[in-house]
Amino acid sequence: MALERTFSIIKPDATKRNLTGKITAMLEDGGLRVVASKRIQLTLAQAQQFYGVHKERPFFDELCEFMISEPIVVQVLEGENAIARNREVMGATNPAEAADGTIRKTFALSIGENSVHGSDGPDTAKEEIAFFFSGLELVG
Ligand code: UDP
Repeated sequence: MALERTFSIIKPDATKRNLTGKITAMLEDGGLRVVASKRIQLTLAQAQQFYGVHKERPFFDELCEFMISEPIVVQVLEGENAIARNREVMGATNPAEAADGTIRKTFALSIGENSVHGSDGPDTAKEEIAFFFSGLELVG
């Protein structure tokens, strides 16, 4: 399997609790390398665009308000099978269902405030990386 890149967000519930370093360490220990990283604060329009695929879902407004409530850390992660690997390290969306040792089992507060985002496939990884980073910012 060739090296692959995926997109990750350390969400507001985690940045607020000063967990950026601990979460990044879990990603690194999981075999992922941070090849780009920045701390930003989303506007409502940016959050709505990023989560546009969920706009008909009942949790959409709450999710967007949550995502702009504090700064976030956006990262590009690289590794063998990085998309699937990251989702394993993150754990299930609902922390109550996440496996022991995963980021969400360890840190998430609820199904909404679940500490991390990770791309769910190669097409979304490409789109999400391009949404936040220029080619110049990716240093492998
Ligand atoms: N979410 C929520 N309520 C739900 C399902 C999802 O608030 O019932 C939020 C949660 O923050 C989740 C995000 O919407 O991470 C995107 O949902 P998705 O199903 O894509 O889960 P993920 O890929 O993040 O595990």
